[in-house]
Amino acid sequence: MIFDRDGTLIKYVPYLINIEDLEIDQRIFPQLRKLNRIYKFGIISNQSAIGRGFATESHVAEINSKIISIFGEQDIRFEFIKICGHTPEDKCKCRKPGTALFDEAKKEFGILASESYYIGDSLIDIEFAYNSGMKPAFVNREEINITEDICISGENLYTVLESFLKGKHADTRIN
Ligand SMILES: [Zn+2]
Repeated sequence: MIFDRDGTLIKYVPYLINIEDLEIDQRIFPQLRKLNRIYKFGIISNQSAIGRGFATESHVAEINSKIISIFGEQDIRFEFIKICGHTPEDKCKCRKPGTALFDEAKKEFGILASESYYIGDSLIDIEFAYNSGMKPAFVNREEINITEDICISGENLYTVLESFLKGKHADTRIN
């Protein structure tokens, strides 16, 4: 299972820079612990705050290690966190929906895309899941009308994981 960061695993804050603004819904800890026994976890995230000059790469890395350690204290292990620090204008291959970061993770960790889920909160995340051959799960934070075929959705990660644990996900056909 691969997760988006902001608005999915952690509370959405535009360009999260202050570590004090880092907030995680405690209800997801037991859910993730259960799922972590079955699935390996990773994070793939766009962090254009770097490219826009709002944050340095090391500052984002510091926030990311904090996130990993908060989950670690809850016995939830993330194998990797991969970020793209570019802006859309950079036209790089690693910014979602580009698949470069997933391709890298696939090689490093032997991930089977068709058996993997990508959970995110934007249409770009759904597109990224499709581009990568993963099954998209959607945190519909902004109650967007979606026409894309997704295997599971909910208003926040807690409800998405709740449905997932109840086996209420439809495994969509990936073209
Ligand atoms: Zn990039």
